[in-house]
Amino acid sequence: MSENYDVVVIGGGPGGYAAAIKAAQLGLKTACIDKYINKNGKPALGGTCANVGCIPSKALLDSTWKYHEAKEDFAVHGISAEGVSMDVPAMIKRKDDIVEKQTGGVAMLFQANGVTYLQGTGKLVAGKKVEFTPHEGDMQVLEAGSVVLATGSEPIQIPVAPLHEDIVVDNSGALEFTEVPKRLGVIGAGIIGLELGSVWNRLGSEVVILEAVDTFLPMVDKQVGKELLKSLKKQGMDIRLSTRVTGSEVKDGEVIVSFSDDEGDKNITVDKLIVAVGRRPYTEDLFTVDSGVNLDERGFIFVNQSCQTDVPGVYAIGDIVRGPALAHKATEEGVMVAEIIAGHHTQLNYDCIPSVVYTHPEVAWVGMNEEQAKAEGDDYKTGMFAFMANGRAVAANETTGFVKVVADSKTDRILGVHIVGPQASEITMQAVIAMEFGASVEDLQMMVFAHPGLSEVLHEAMLDVDGKAIHSAKRRKKRR
Ligand code: FAD
Ligand code: AMP
Repeated sequence: MSENYDVVVIGGGPGGYAAAIKAAQLGLKTACIDKYINKNGKPALGGTCANVGCIPSKALLDSTWKYHEAKEDFAVHGISAEGVSMDVPAMIKRKDDIVEKQTGGVAMLFQANGVTYLQGTGKLVAGKKVEFTPHEGDMQVLEAGSVVLATGSEPIQIPVAPLHEDIVVDNSGALEFTEVPKRLGVIGAGIIGLELGSVWNRLGSEVVILEAVDTFLPMVDKQVGKELLKSLKKQGMDIRLSTRVTGSEVKDGEVIVSFSDDEGDKNITVDKLIVAVGRRPYTEDLFTVDSGVNLDERGFIFVNQSCQTDVPGVYAIGDIVRGPALAHKATEEGVMVAEIIAGHHTQLNYDCIPSVVYTHPEVAWVGMNEEQAKAEGDDYKTGMFAFMANGRAVAANETTGFVKVVADSKTDRILGVHIVGPQASEITMQAVIAMEFGASVEDLQMMVFAHPGLSEVLHEAMLDVDGKAIHSAKRRKKRR
């Protein structure tokens, strides 16, 4: 038996479900195959992002930040909050409810837009056909006008720290602890390791993060990274760079983690260990060799700028292709390919994709950082302004961090904006809009920002590019 569709999407994460919804909205007969089964044994849409990624991690980050504020920051405002405590199972239940709402919401959108949700596994075979094997029942072949591969990524596992029950866990297991571990080890100081480490640190865990490389967040602007590292250490996180984990042993409900650093071989004992050493594209059994799809040298599905694979009519998007592993990047690629399939001309601007680290302070950025600008030549200038000098930040007692602007010194065009501080994720979006419209530094200097507002720090950083910041005591002639 075979069924015909205009579009078959394999994978129902933020890339795949957006592609499916957009394709259906554009009048195409669309099916989305997704195999995810949640911890209750039920099929759930939304992929990594909604089930074990962006959404649950932010739910826990928000809950634990409120707890931290109540315990540590309320007193500054004259509020006494004694006996504040955290009910961890209640926090986890709240997170689970949010996940259920989000994944259920995607299913509802499928229904509303007429997308057929096929629960099971999809595999691309020669001739743009898709073999669909339902969780229950026989395999059937789907004939597709176009196919979108969107199967995402999986956590990398390392032989020196094999997962073990609820003691040595990956990013999914780290969202499920039912009590606060007294001592928590994290392998990897990437975004996921820092966010999950922050959650449990705020609840009182002694968190040690072991990172093999000597640079903290290498993709982040150096000054921004330095400020975040200082801040996280001040919050009590023990972040050790140049520290490579070489082994681990679970014994009597504890984990002995061996590592080597500049001083030699050492070990620590922790109650839980999170392995957060990155994610890799998930393409297992996704296509046959004769399907015509190829991988690149790093194991990603090879695509061009329009997410087209080597097979005409077969596209790949999200974490299985090059570029940052971010939900919004996956979503916009999904929308782009659906529009291309429907015959529209469209292109994603990969230079304007924002990134966020949802620690406290948040780090967010878009475009080139200073190190990247320097590597391209000397024709750049920078501006910087601290939250400390901003009235709204002072009023909110949120004065850590700054905004940094990198611009082209010849054309004045904004090349990048890098923020560490309160609401960095939201302020960055103003930079994204400006850069998408090709704004110059002067354009933003001339705009009126509401007072008092945290966004004024962005304005002042733009002014600082030319040594014109108002709320700055420094009188300086800008060199760059
Ligand atoms: P996925 O979301 O991984 O979805 C792929 C889907 O395809 C899954 O449901 C999978 O089961 C299914 N599938 C796989 N193979 C098959 C097959 N053969 N047949 C049928 N179905 C299949 N990104 C952000 O932008 N912001 C954040 O704050 C953020 N936080 C994160 C926090 C954590 C802890 C983690 C782990 C990730 C986070 N990410 C974040 C990254 C984000 O989750 C991913 O970039 C995003 O989910 C990628 O979307 P995708 O559609 O490519 O794939
Ligand atoms: P990311 O890919 O951004 O999530 O980051 C994962 C981090 O884990 C990288 O910075 C790696 O350097 C780090 N890492 C990988 N293997 C090890 C290891 N054995 N010990 C310590 N850190 C590691």
